[in-house]
Amino acid sequence: MQNIIHLPRELVDFYTELTEIQKDFAGSCGFSIDESGEKDAGNGIPLIQVYKPVFRRETVMALFKQNALLVSDHQPGFKKEVETILQSSPDLIFQFIETVISGNPPESKAALSDDAHINDDILNFIVRNAVKPLLKEYALHVAGKFKPDKWSESCCPVCGGRPGIARLERENGQRYLRCSMCDTEWLYKRMSCCSCGNEDHESLGILIVEESPGCKIDVCERCRCYIKVIDQKEMPGFDMETYELNTVFLDILARQHGYGNESLVC
Ligand SMILES: [Zn+2]
Ligand SMILES: [Zn+2]
Repeated sequence: MQNIIHLPRELVDFYTELTEIQKDFAGSCGFSIDESGEKDAGNGIPLIQVYKPVFRRETVMALFKQNALLVSDHQPGFKKEVETILQSSPDLIFQFIETVISGNPPESKAALSDDAHINDDILNFIVRNAVKPLLKEYALHVAGKFKPDKWSESCCPVCGGRPGIARLERENGQRYLRCSMCDTEWLYKRMSCCSCGNEDHESLGILIVEESPGCKIDVCERCRCYIKVIDQKEMPGFDMETYELNTVFLDILARQHGYGNESLVC
């Protein structure tokens, strides 16, 4: 493959600022745990459904607003859409975010109002990024409760989120998925599509970037989904903490080849 991709400056600036917001809130969100939920974590039930976090409303709303304004500042074309979202009832916004945290997001537009002008994609983007620092802090707190031998799902054992990237361990090439929401990592089968579960080797493939041999993309011809992969044998120093910004080019590449990654169902 000979594709060389230059990221637009605006995109880099946008992701850099997004990362800054996440850093500002990292470790200082604060929450309590309501343990009245189901009592059997593992075996397909993420920890968040057992040890339910309750976050402070003012922190949640501050995160929501900062992410909304970031989109508005960097994407002037969406200014009006963001304004419409910000004018929604704070109670409904907070409730919506709580349901996203619990892993049961309702139809986004309907959750806020009947306003047909609310743009679901923008709303989901803002909410997802507002929720990330909250879930990352939660994940660090409950990490010790996660039992790796009881988890074989492709969704996150802590928050139920979708994997954002995978890494192949340096020593033995085992594949770990990393949650796109809370950064938890868990071991997952090497030859299996993490969107549809396909294990047929004939229809599973890899896109390789010649200029960056440690960066790969696992693809599935059955569901046309992809997941980005960092091979740590070839890139031992890659910083997984900043993967979002540093692997955007893989998303662009995968989409150029007709693959998506929205359809993962847990
Ligand atoms: Zn997670
Ligand atoms: Zn698949």
